[in-house]
Amino acid sequence: MSNQGDKAAPSAQVNAAKAAQAKVAAHAASLAAAAKAKANELGQIPVLMYHRIIEKPTSVDDLDPKVFRAEMERLVAEGYVPITAAEYATGRIGIPAGKHAVVLTFDDSSPSQLSLDGMGAPKAGTAVAILQDVARKHPSFRPVATFYVTKDMFGVTTPEEQAQMVTWLRNNGFDIGNHTRDHLNLRGREKKAVFDEVAAGHKLITDLVKEASPVTLALPYGNQPTKAEWARKGNSGKVAYDYGGVFLAGYNPAPSPYGKDFNALGIPRIRSGVKKGDCSKFCSAAWLDWLKANPDKRFTSDGDAKTVAYPKFKAPFMAKQFTGQALAY
Ligand SMILES: [Zn+2]
Repeated sequence: MSNQGDKAAPSAQVNAAKAAQAKVAAHAASLAAAAKAKANELGQIPVLMYHRIIEKPTSVDDLDPKVFRAEMERLVAEGYVPITAAEYATGRIGIPAGKHAVVLTFDDSSPSQLSLDGMGAPKAGTAVAILQDVARKHPSFRPVATFYVTKDMFGVTTPEEQAQMVTWLRNNGFDIGNHTRDHLNLRGREKKAVFDEVAAGHKLITDLVKEASPVTLALPYGNQPTKAEWARKGNSGKVAYDYGGVFLAGYNPAPSPYGKDFNALGIPRIRSGVKKGDCSKFCSAAWLDWLKANPDKRFTSDGDAKTVAYPKFKAPFMAKQFTGQALAY
């Protein structure tokens, strides 16, 4: 018996030493890969905000389908890969090395974003059809987005049809967020009214598809309630909600979810628009130009969803709760 024990001991030591060596080698390889990709997972992420995608736009929020397609093509060309608002807010970002994260968000559940034919195929010209088409041509581009829905629910009215829309989005990798049921301005309302309206938006979705419980909220008009926290976490008495992030309507790139600047109570978004008029500085074309000109400020992945990779120089900006995943090169 004792002989066997003596034999086992050195072999366990050798195995442990080999495992430690392998770990050191793997870490060195991870660092080298992060440096090669110029990874900066503390960099900023544009969260783009869309409303109706229609020909002959009638408001500044509408976008022509051709202009929308051109913006998706630009994102492909500049190395962006979409992630959902839920992935962003919870820090689950799994995109290839060297790629930049972008979040595509669609407000108000317009039929121009998603309409399905009788067999469940998206109709040509809708935002979803365009996204899928761009992704077919460019396989590196994930066709994912977040839909902030209200009771308008893509123009369909029966619970069965509404459930079809929510289920289709889920089955195709899209994310459903809360935009309140009635699109009420929450500014200045009392706490109970805020809780009731946000909870009603939450229930609208979960009553249709229980598993589609939203992870994030977009504030109607981007307006925060008197206490910003009321929109993130609350309870109407019957329905409770506790969101990973609450999104605003303006007007700059969002901080990395791994950085100290991240604030779940108010995540900025960028309206889509070309550089003219009131879009000359703060809409998508202007900010994508800025991010391209300032690559050191932009989120760039190391290709490993488990690590948060960044140049050592940026270490003071790392949020404490992610330090266990830090990979500083
Ligand atoms: Zn809205």
